[in-house]
Amino acid sequence: MNTQSHAIINVALLSRKDKPHLHLYALLGGVLPDLPMFIFFGIETLILKHSQGKIWSEQYFLPQWQNIFDIFNSMPFILIALGIGYYFRSERITVFCWSMLLHCVADFFLHREDAHRHFFPFSQYTFISPISYWETDHYGQIASVVEILAIIVASVFLYPRLQSRLSRGALVTVNVISMLVYTAIVIFS
Ligand SMILES: [Zn+2]
Repeated sequence: MNTQSHAIINVALLSRKDKPHLHLYALLGGVLPDLPMFIFFGIETLILKHSQGKIWSEQYFLPQWQNIFDIFNSMPFILIALGIGYYFRSERITVFCWSMLLHCVADFFLHREDAHRHFFPFSQYTFISPISYWETDHYGQIASVVEILAIIVASVFLYPRLQSRLSRGALVTVNVISMLVYTAIVIFS
């Protein structure tokens, strides 16, 4: 699933009316598993100046990068952190970890050859899901429609719970951009 979709859906699922200060932790946990990917993209494109073809067909699959990606998608590590959060009764940590976990569970069922090793470093296992969130040969088109609908529903639910104009504006902006990108992909593919 796309990073912004994880973010919106996770914040909506984990939000509580009386605790708006926890939204930030749900947001950070929803985004963190994908953060190394953005850093990878930045380094490969801006510093190493590799072509997009080489980046996604070769560099992405280098073991060094894969290990970094998968550490951030490791469910055992997240569960340990979640346990620590409950031990210290820290809602910030537990909400953050639940959001990371939700991200990983969603990805587990929506990735194929690009799947993460969600039990790394304890196991090299990857689950090749029959459904991909983007590959058209593997229900990618249906998955995209469901993803867009899910973020709209989550946003409608979340919007009144957001306190600041900035967060409300950001939510609307991300929705509009997602829909424009989706429409562009449908038209031009
Ligand atoms: Zn992800």
